[in-house]
Amino acid sequence: MPDTPSLPFPRPSKIVCVGRNYAEHAKELGNEVPKEPLIFLKPPSSLIAAGQPIVLPAMSKQIEYEGEIGVLIGKPLRHATAADAAAAVSGVLAANDVTARDLQRSDSQWTRAKGFDTFCPVGAPKAPPADLGTLSVVTRVNGQERQQASASLMVFTIPALLAYISNVMTLEPGDLVLTGTPAGVGTLAPGDEVEIEVPGFSRVRNPVRMHS
Ligand code: MG
Repeated sequence: MPDTPSLPFPRPSKIVCVGRNYAEHAKELGNEVPKEPLIFLKPPSSLIAAGQPIVLPAMSKQIEYEGEIGVLIGKPLRHATAADAAAAVSGVLAANDVTARDLQRSDSQWTRAKGFDTFCPVGAPKAPPADLGTLSVVTRVNGQERQQASASLMVFTIPALLAYISNVMTLEPGDLVLTGTPAGVGTLAPGDEVEIEVPGFSRVRNPVRMHS
């Protein structure tokens, strides 16, 4: 698949995402905190850059933002330790795991709910801090804050997530991992503008429009 010229980094071979990694968010959707990381994939074709519209698909009546800390992988990771995984992070960025919540409930696989074109807005990456647990994420819709949390509240830390994923599939240089959303998810409507910020590192703001 060709690179999308406007993306702030080369198209990854895969986007690995983590569900229910903040206890308050698991609770708000009526779910238990998982005993081990819950992982799923978004297709690289869902990526868009800042400023490009999130297009609401006709198949869904409930499309929601999920502000997340994204990490880019700099070195291959396979059966990695948490320490090796932490050292392999080459960049951190703001990401939006846009989700068709009604389809997530109706489908036992989340491929459709998470995989529509434009469902993965990403900001420009920046070199990671020494301690990934110091990162935080903020979501604003039309300028109003909706989500705010520190990575220190994650059920599984970022290095632990990467090590876990690397025991399932090789993480390749350029791959993107979305580390889960905190409490405060909510719906998007045409005309909204949604912004995810990893303060001090990255920001992505996108308009929302209806399918044509
Ligand atoms: Mg998510």
